[in-house]
Amino acid sequence: MTARRPAEPGMPLAQVETPALIVDLDAMQANIKALATRVSAFPSVRATPHAKAHKCLEIARLQMAAGASRICCQNVAEVETLATGGITNILLSNEIIGADKARRLAEAARTAKVAVCVDHADQVAVLAKAADEAGVTLDILVEIDVGMGRCGVPSTESAVALAREVAKHKGLRFTGLQAYHGTAQHLRKPEERAAAIAKAAAFARQTADALREAGLPCEVIAGAGTGTYENEMTGGVYTELQCGSYVFMDADYGRNDTAYPFRNALFVLTSVISSAAPGRAVCDAGLKSLTAESGLPVTYEAPGVTYVKATDEHGTLELSADAQVRPGDRLKLIPGHCDPTVNLHDWLVAYRGDTVEAVWRVARGW
Ligand code: PLP
Ligand code: MN
Repeated sequence: MTARRPAEPGMPLAQVETPALIVDLDAMQANIKALATRVSAFPSVRATPHAKAHKCLEIARLQMAAGASRICCQNVAEVETLATGGITNILLSNEIIGADKARRLAEAARTAKVAVCVDHADQVAVLAKAADEAGVTLDILVEIDVGMGRCGVPSTESAVALAREVAKHKGLRFTGLQAYHGTAQHLRKPEERAAAIAKAAAFARQTADALREAGLPCEVIAGAGTGTYENEMTGGVYTELQCGSYVFMDADYGRNDTAYPFRNALFVLTSVISSAAPGRAVCDAGLKSLTAESGLPVTYEAPGVTYVKATDEHGTLELSADAQVRPGDRLKLIPGHCDPTVNLHDWLVAYRGDTVEAVWRVARGW
């Protein structure tokens, strides 16, 4: 059964069923343009926006139309959604394992140019078999761990050895390095982020040099997120910037000590359902509508109203003495963390001014 839609195009925002995930199209389109314009000043660098933030075909199309060279995905479901929707160049900026997932990725490579990351010979073997059976070529990036301690080989030597392994297979094409530093994104001070990315870039450069000497040139050095893209873009090492959250922003990025050229475009629209006690109200957006691992949501343009507690179906609001709130009032909440909040919803309600313009599917699933 298809999930019930919270709105239809043409509807006033006041009639959208809550809690709903809503996107301010003017703000989002300004964000897409701001990144594209900034990156276009650096000829050796391309924007490859990350779809993990929005999981939405229509937004990926807008990013491609604004000049992105490809779209990044974090799982195979996102790749399938974009490839079947006509996006022709996709990087799965992650490792996958298992014959089924590799087969699905190779299937997507029949209509799109598809690249994927590896950090172990076992992934290489699975991908090579799937590419061979489907009669397609998969582009491969070897991921190096540039400081976040997640995926990625730990040394230049192991990266060269793995790239050699990739080059043995005719269905795979070694194209470069994935060098994303996730934990640097939310370091609050710009100088802390700059130092982390300088170290990451030095490791990536050294590894690219060693690969070149081994006869395996790196066309691509990919990484960066919304927090640090200025550092990767201006450092002369990275060639692709995988910013994701920039398209929406969130409350946690709002706490970085930097004025990013991006506006809040994503909100959870919520209704006040109770205001029985003085100084307190309750809204219908709790943990099933937004995530709290990066902090609670922040109320938007609602002076004196603070979101102080999230439970399953309830959000508790603290009210200052002069804040008047009644059941039925509506609020926009800026989510603490955009990516996992989006993944709680089936639909993105895109609006301009006070009117719904479109209702877009979120590509949930594996
Ligand atoms: N690239 C990779 C590999 C990521 O895991 C992420 C996010 O976690 C991003 C890019 C995008 O980061 P952000 O949403 O902070 O821009
Ligand atoms: Mn995130």
